[in-house]
Amino acid sequence: MKKKATSKSIPPARPFIYKNRTLLCDSVPLSSLAEQYGTPLYVYSATQISERFQLFQQAFQDRPHTVCYAVKANPSLAILRLLGRQGAGFDIVSGGELERVRRAHKPALKKVVFSGVGKQAWEIDAALKAGILQFNIESEQELGLVAARAQALKVRARFALRVNPDVFAETHPYISTGLSEHKFGIDIKIARAIYRRAAKSKWLEPYGVSVHIGSQIRKVDPFASALERVTSLVAELRRDGHNIRTIDAGGGLGIDYSDAPFDPAHQVERYTAALAKGLANETAHLLLEPGRFLVAQAGALLTRVVVIKKNGSKTFVITDAAMNDLIRPALYHAHHEIIPVRQSSSKGTITADVVGPVCESGDFFARDRAIAQVRPGDLVAILDAGAYGMSLSSNYNSRPRPAEVLVEGKKVSLARRRETMRDQLAPEVL
Ligand SMILES: *Cc1c(COP(=O)(O)O)cnc(C)c1O
Repeated sequence: MKKKATSKSIPPARPFIYKNRTLLCDSVPLSSLAEQYGTPLYVYSATQISERFQLFQQAFQDRPHTVCYAVKANPSLAILRLLGRQGAGFDIVSGGELERVRRAHKPALKKVVFSGVGKQAWEIDAALKAGILQFNIESEQELGLVAARAQALKVRARFALRVNPDVFAETHPYISTGLSEHKFGIDIKIARAIYRRAAKSKWLEPYGVSVHIGSQIRKVDPFASALERVTSLVAELRRDGHNIRTIDAGGGLGIDYSDAPFDPAHQVERYTAALAKGLANETAHLLLEPGRFLVAQAGALLTRVVVIKKNGSKTFVITDAAMNDLIRPALYHAHHEIIPVRQSSSKGTITADVVGPVCESGDFFARDRAIAQVRPGDLVAILDAGAYGMSLSSNYNSRPRPAEVLVEGKKVSLARRRETMRDQLAPEVL
């Protein structure tokens, strides 16, 4: 963390700050990025991503651990490389994400954990050949498939059962995963029997236990409860003669999307304390799978106002970004702060819906929101868009996906160029 904040005030949670009324990412004015790369544009601070990763590294330095960044939060090769070079492992959920890790930082393949409820034979084969750390297994059928593929390839597969601890994590229903009503994990009550059966196969190595109870979780108690259950299962498994080496605590630590003060160091402290409570005296190698917490606040979606339209009493600020670029508001009714790139001296505000050009009434970034007075042509930044922004983007309405840039201090690097129509049409056949 920067040591600059001498007062007791909490340092800004985001790398986007005003200097002389103009919004910067690290030291780079967003207006110059818009000029050079066009809009809509995803802008990420590499500085903040590294800082967040190092917060985790330091918080867990007293125990053997690996921070396996959850690739699905933001799978940009540049971000994977940035984290891989600092020692991160990766949590993947598909063969595609495995390939991304290989391209970004090959040595990290041995620190990959493979999650997901529907792994297919080709994905399992690729992961076995890559020598990943462990498969997080979501059903006994899947364990059978992994055993069969391991036998075919003549290698041993290290696995952890992803147990479902039946713990409620207060978050949006679409991203809560730790209850028995959810499709995720294996009922913790039957896990022991499955390890016992699996241990009979010479192609399977019982290696760990994993859990992941959901995403954007703000209270830390559910993490402690889930891990307590995992820890007592591990003790039983050891008594049953299994050499359990890893405990995977999953991801899910949330951020604050509002403009209230937010202290990431304090959040990581609370989280670490909750996990320590759940782990008690357990000393297994700890795996962590943060996604959102590492990248969400490092990123903004930079967009230009196309037109301002009034319909009756409503005002619509229509931007060149849309739900295909950032679907979180439409999908989860998520809140994102929206701020102007050029701060005006007048401080006037308007109450408006900020929307995109896509043909859906669900295409909005904010509704009835008081925002700074803006005019057509002005730039605005949609904050906290670094996680589940670009990774959930699509070509809906045949819109090209945005470009992405990574900023580090004064340095800017293009992480992904803007899509062209040629890119979009390439796979199609006439
Ligand atoms: C999505 C996911 C994560 C990351 O969740 P965040 O809320 O982004 O930290 C970690 N592990 C698994 C298994 C996931 O599905």
